[in-house]
Order: sequence, then C-alpha cells, then structure tokens
Amino acid sequence: MPSTPNCKYVEFVIVVKIVYLPVMNFNSLGLAPKILSNLKTLNYNAMTPIQAKSLPLILAGHDIIGQAKTGSGKTAAFGLGVLSNLIDNVPGIQSLILCPTRELADQVASELRKLARSTPNVKIVTTCGGTSESLQAKSLSKGAHIVVGTPGRVLKFLKTKRMQLGYVNTFVLDEADKMLDMGFSEDITEISSHLPRKRQSLLFSATFPKEILKLSELILNNAKTVKVDLAIKKNLIKEIFYLVEDHDHKIKYLSKLLGKYQPESTVIFCKTKIICDDVAHYLIQKGISAIAIHGDHEQKRRTLALTKFSNGSCLVLVATDVAARGLDIKNLKAVINFDLTSDIKGYIHRIGRTGRQENAGLALSFYVEQETYKLDALEKHQDTELIRHKASHLKGTKPFKLKPKNTTLYISGGRKDKIRPGDIVGGIIGTSKIEAQYIGDINILDTFSYVAVDTRYSDQVIKALKNGKIKKRKYRVGKA
Ligand code: ADP
Ligand code: MG
Repeated sequence: MPSTPNCKYVEFVIVVKIVYLPVMNFNSLGLAPKILSNLKTLNYNAMTPIQAKSLPLILAGHDIIGQAKTGSGKTAAFGLGVLSNLIDNVPGIQSLILCPTRELADQVASELRKLARSTPNVKIVTTCGGTSESLQAKSLSKGAHIVVGTPGRVLKFLKTKRMQLGYVNTFVLDEADKMLDMGFSEDITEISSHLPRKRQSLLFSATFPKEILKLSELILNNAKTVKVDLAIKKNLIKEIFYLVEDHDHKIKYLSKLLGKYQPESTVIFCKTKIICDDVAHYLIQKGISAIAIHGDHEQKRRTLALTKFSNGSCLVLVATDVAARGLDIKNLKAVINFDLTSDIKGYIHRIGRTGRQENAGLALSFYVEQETYKLDALEKHQDTELIRHKASHLKGTKPFKLKPKNTTLYISGGRKDKIRPGDIVGGIIGTSKIEAQYIGDINILDTFSYVAVDTRYSDQVIKALKNGKIKKRKYRVGKA
C-alpha cells in the first residue's frame, strides 16, 4: 500500500514516559573485583537505565533483545557481558560483535579496550571493510579473544578460513536495525551458522521492525526483551524552527544561524550526501571550520573527520543520518536540521544528541511551507507550542566567529608500533617543552596516531617532534 510521507509524522505516537529506576551501582552485579575497580576509574558510578535493566539478565546468561536510544550506554551493557564470559586458555575467538559500520566497530572496540583495561592480555581485533585485510588477518592469526567487525568482512574471513568461530560463547549484534537497513541480513544469518549452537546472543537495536523480530527468532534463544522508553528531555532542549522560502534558500541562512547562536560544537543533518558536501563546502568558504562525513568517503577520511570534531579541531560536522547513527558524539551545543527528517522518531533521535548530561541543548531546524504539517504533528506529539520564526529575520546577524581551539597532528606510528598515549605525551613534552595541559585527545590507530594540540603550540610541537623521537624512534609528523 502506498504511504504518503505525512502518515509517518501523523501516525507516529510514542508515550513520553519517564521511567524511575532506582539508582543502581555496579556493585550489585557480582562482577569481578578488578572489573569493578576499573569501572570506578572510568567514573562509571551508576548504571544507565539500559544497563540496570539488561546487565542482571546478561550476566545470568540470558539471550537479550535490547532497545535504547543512542548514547544510553549499550556498549558497556553487552561489553561487560562479553568480558565476564571470557575463559582462560581457550584456543580461539570467544566473542564476536557485529556492527553496521567501521566507525561503530572502532568505537565499540575502543570502549571494550577501556572496560578490559584491568583484565590482563585481552586481545581485541577489529575486522572491517575499507581497511587492510592482510593486517587484520595477521592480527587474527596471532590469536584474538574478541572480534569486532562488520558483517561483510567477517564473512569474507570465514569463507577463506582465516577466522574460526568454534569457541565463541557470546555473539553480539549491535545496531541490528541499521545492519538490516544496509542489507546485511543474509550475511548475518550465514555468519551465525558458523557459531556454536550453545552460546549467548545479545541483540541491540534502536527500532523494532518485523525483520528484526524475524532475525532474532532465527538467531536468539528464549530471549528476554529489555526496553528503555524513548523520551524527550522537554526543558533541556530548546527547539526553534525557521521557515525558509524554499530548499535552495537554506544555505544562505545557515551561516546566519550559526552567527546568531555561536554554538561551540554543532552537527548539521542533511538529507543526502550531495547536500552534505555542498553545505560543508559553503561553510568552509565562509571561513567556518566544518567537515562533511558520509559513506562515500574513504575510511581514513571519515575517522579523521570524527577525530577532529571530537577533539576540538573542528566545530561543525555535516552528516547524513546514516553516517551519524550510533556515533558517540558528546557535548553537542547544537543540532541543526538543515533538512527535516521524514518522521518524528528520526527527529527525536537527532536532537537527542544535544542537551545531554543536564546541559541545555539547542535544536534548530529549517522547514519549507509544505512541511508545516510535520511541525503540527510534532506539536501535538510534544504537547507544547513550537517556536516558529521566519528565516528572513536572521538577516543582519553577525558572522560566526568561533575558531577551533585545537589542531590535530598526524604521527606515523600506531598500535602496531606499540605506541601508547603516554608515549606520545612523553614525546611531545620531552621534545617541545610545552605543558601537558596543551595536549588534548590522543587516538592511536593500527599504523598511525592522531593527537590534538592547542593550536598556538602546534607548529612548535611539529618542529620538535620532527627533530626528536617518540619512544626512541623517529616518526613522520604533520598537520592531519
Ligand atoms: P550507545 O551504544 O547506547 O549509543 P555508548 O555505549 O556509546 O552508547 O555510550 C555512550 C557514552 O556513555 C560513552 O562515552 C560511554 O563511555 C558512556 N557510558 C556508558 N556507560 C556509562 C556509565 N554507567 N556511567 C558513565 N558513562 C557511561
Ligand atoms: Mg552503540
């Protein structure tokens, strides 16, 4: 049956329900003491709602279907399950985690590495498309306890017998709906046929279309469903809607919008990849530090874009929903909907990225006359009057003047060179004599690393590192 676009907006009803859960700390779970003390050092003092609901079941060995929104701590929920299931002296992979994209796999792997810090010798390998197959194969051949990968690449390794799953005790599907959207359904089913029957399977998904239920029937066994309701933090996010004459006019209002609010970090959502590129291009021309991120870009470029955005070297990220889905982007000052979503749920997901952790958020949206029905539906849904302005009133606002505080440097050594964050900090301080407080986030990848440095000192640091050494070795260094 054909569906008109407005159906989605009008028919979609969610109950905004505030779930009061007792604040539960991790102590009640019976986790190993070393894992508990590590959680403390990570400042994980209380479980998030999805963790509080799912962890007791996961640790009791149940299969799980879990639903919660982005940023709710699902990774640690299944991650603690995966770590608790690790057994000494097993000659093979014990856990397989499938994710839809390389970025998500990288993010999951790095969260797992944090959680596993106190457990000696846990080897976590990522196997994703778009990155070197031979390096991944080499890592696998040296023995891995946990594999985090995308379905396509995992299946390729299975078919060529470079990966064996006979010892897997925990199978995780993260962002399962997204994997189905991307057409991975058959791959996932085929991968699961390589797994032992007796295992624990954990499936996490933001939405539950019929296909997810079908998949979980195939793969899960007596699964318990755990849900945390989707709720809007009503007063935490200020939502403002700007009426534009037509889609072509949006771009000229965009820099004015940024100028009016001067947000320190913004994600701009666009409908298509082409619009993303156009918007980023336009902002850069205006001297605004912006980067587009979408699926057409090669992996290295996407990792760099995300790194720059999260370490304060770039202030505006322009993304499609697909590219931004599931990414752990913190402390957003503003979300701008350059294009509105086709449904309310998508809108709520997007704006939920601002106003986290009790900070007030800002959600700014452009709309054209023909989309007024979407606002009306949203108004009904939220039960408050929306703030609507004409974008033409933005004329005359001052330009966006913020510049990123940091600059990202590239260093030609990474995990394979056994470089750790402390080595980079030591190398920088030792050679350039700047203080540690001017060094920001450090991201160590397989064969190279990124480090954020206060822009005022970036040239000084590059020069010093070029002449000096990190851990007694010389590396190529430059602006990323
Ligand atoms: P999701 O997968 O649900 O989108 P993530 O697992 O990426 O969310 O978690 C979002 C952020 O919350 C991460 O930065 C993670 O380190 C942090 N986090 C997770 N659990 C806790 C906790 N119990 N206390 C504090 N921070 C947490
Ligand atoms: Mg996640």
